[in-house]
Amino acid sequence: MSRSVLVTGGNRGIGLAVARAFAQAGDRVALTYRSGGPPEEATRLGCLAVRCDVTDAGQVERAREEAERAHGPVEVLVANAGITRDQLLLRMPEEDFAAVLDTNLTGVFRVVKQVTGGMLQARRGRIVLVSSVVGLLGAAGQANYAASKAGLVGFARSLARELGSRGITCNLVAPGFVETDMTRALGEKQRAGLLSRVPLARSAQPEEIAATVRFLASDDAAYITGAVLPVDGGLGMGH
Ligand code: NDP
Repeated sequence: MSRSVLVTGGNRGIGLAVARAFAQAGDRVALTYRSGGPPEEATRLGCLAVRCDVTDAGQVERAREEAERAHGPVEVLVANAGITRDQLLLRMPEEDFAAVLDTNLTGVFRVVKQVTGGMLQARRGRIVLVSSVVGLLGAAGQANYAASKAGLVGFARSLARELGSRGITCNLVAPGFVETDMTRALGEKQRAGLLSRVPLARSAQPEEIAATVRFLASDDAAYITGAVLPVDGGLGMGH
């Protein structure tokens, strides 16, 4: 059955792979983009591309309205948009801490808040948040990012409790090292250091995260809520 799906940060990387996976499975997908234009692939996939900066509540509301006008109430939300502003704590300006929290945590709050009304009315829904192995392990130079991604765990688990009796699940994926622009920005030494700690001894492709997100949004995952599902090649084992 085709569902109305909304994916934030869907113009590249993991978000685009997620949008592609749902679209190829026959769902009606709205993806958001922020800077630049809509991704070329959106038209080919039959996805609706809507502009949305998740730090702006007005844009989030308009994006949800546009998505719902085209596809009906959102039944699956994938909150994926995220940024890094890495720096050791002593050198980290408060603006960089606040900016990462505003996008990665408060941004997710804004988007989730927009779609839950429709899900409550329908008495069903799937919310999947993109956290990170770093939210559980921590990482030097990423105190802001780790705090935002760990914050998502408490957020999702609270929603799992608030919304569960209405047939709405809320889960997280916690990816490890995925080949996207975000990790392409790392130096060779950092990449090698990270890879040496991955039991599967390789990085992930965005499609591998997308497959897990689709699983959490599927009927097969109907009895899973409040879960953190690692997709990290074993990097974060034990958490
Ligand atoms: P990319 O940097 O490739 O893409 C990030 C996406 O988020 C882009 O679409 C970007 O839009 C969007 N975005 C950033 N800020 C905002 C904003 N304020 N409003 C709306 N959209 C925004 O990253 P990835 O694909 O690698 O990451 C996707 C998610 O996965 C993130 O939440 C990230 O933290 C998480 N993750 C990634 C891992 C990895 O190894 N790559 C590992 C673990 C988690 P724009 O193009 O306009 O910048």
